[in-house]
Amino acid sequence: AEAKAKEHGKSAIESSSATINQNDLKNFLEKLASEEYEGRGTGDKGERMATAYLASFFEELGLEPAGNDGTYFQEFGFNAGKEMNSGNHLTIQIQEPLGLVRTMKPGQHYLPVNFSVSGEIKSARTVFAGFGIQDKEYNSFENLNVKDAWILVFRGSPKDRKELQKFGPLVNKAQQAKKLGARGIIYMKGPNPGVGKMLVPPSQNVGSNNEILPSITISDELAGSLLGGTENGSFQDIFESFYSGKKVQGFPLPYSISAQIGLDKKEDKGRNVIARLKVKENRSEEAIMVGGHIDHIGLGTRGGTRAKGKDTSLIHFGADDNASGIAAVMELAQFYTDLKKQGKLDLKRDIIFAAWSGEEMGLFGSKHFVKKQKELKGDKIYPSISAYLNLDMIGRLEEKPLIVHGTGS
Ligand SMILES: [Zn+2]
Repeated sequence: AEAKAKEHGKSAIESSSATINQNDLKNFLEKLASEEYEGRGTGDKGERMATAYLASFFEELGLEPAGNDGTYFQEFGFNAGKEMNSGNHLTIQIQEPLGLVRTMKPGQHYLPVNFSVSGEIKSARTVFAGFGIQDKEYNSFENLNVKDAWILVFRGSPKDRKELQKFGPLVNKAQQAKKLGARGIIYMKGPNPGVGKMLVPPSQNVGSNNEILPSITISDELAGSLLGGTENGSFQDIFESFYSGKKVQGFPLPYSISAQIGLDKKEDKGRNVIARLKVKENRSEEAIMVGGHIDHIGLGTRGGTRAKGKDTSLIHFGADDNASGIAAVMELAQFYTDLKKQGKLDLKRDIIFAAWSGEEMGLFGSKHFVKKQKELKGDKIYPSISAYLNLDMIGRLEEKPLIVHGTGS
């Protein structure tokens, strides 16, 4: 895929002109925001492609590589959520008839959530607690004893209860359950259109990097067998009566559950792209920098999505944020390179063109650059980089004015 992206970078040069024009910008943007580039999630295939595309564009222009080891790339490591180790099981013991045991498979019946506590969780009784929300006017826990119990809850919040939406996120429910002294929390999806994928993988950041409480999402199939078929009706019926707001409080269930949860931190790598246009034969002492972030949020697997329901796991194309900024960086690089060729580049300082990755996850790429630069320059960035222009979301201004922010100068 990277080899293909390199070809795209070359043909981007061939099919564009040195002047700054709308057509070039549009073509660059459309490539970066194309389906093939999968929304450029940091560390993902789409980010490798987008960075390869840009590096090959810079190379064709004849810019000097300014990344690591004579390349255009500057790699950085980042915390990419968690992954399961071999120590994961979930056992459900049915009390009626006593002794029947079901062993669940991680990945098929359930998955531990990113903020789950790891370790052995001893057998405990189970209480179904509706949406697991405690508010003044709405209390899922009233008359329920959930101390030291697993609580089983629906994700999200009841339909048409806007004021309860803020209690919907997984992390809020886990914190609430912890406050009530629950042993762990189990989340069910059901036919809720406002909730994303059924099993939420531990690689996905869902609002906290801290371990809160043993927490797992389960399949609707398992949820159905835990909750349905009782005197309370089918799983679907139970979901509907809570979702519509008819019922609020849950009830104890005839199961005890034990688990082993094993999550390890996962490291991944992203990369910046950096190139230098030299004004003279040698590098100038000081340089001006022009850049933007090249990453977007990919398939939403690392969080940051504002999509709802099924849409959370689709490609987030990021045309405006920030294929638009990188398209402008490319256009400027091409323009100034051409000026230099014509002998018209009348500047004192070199221009460094940069594309940062990891921005959406917390400015990881640019932070890494700053750290490395400080190591090189004795804790100082200025004046070796005397000014930096960052381009972010310049694709939908239309009739609105350009917004310019100054910071830290
Ligand atoms: Zn942005």
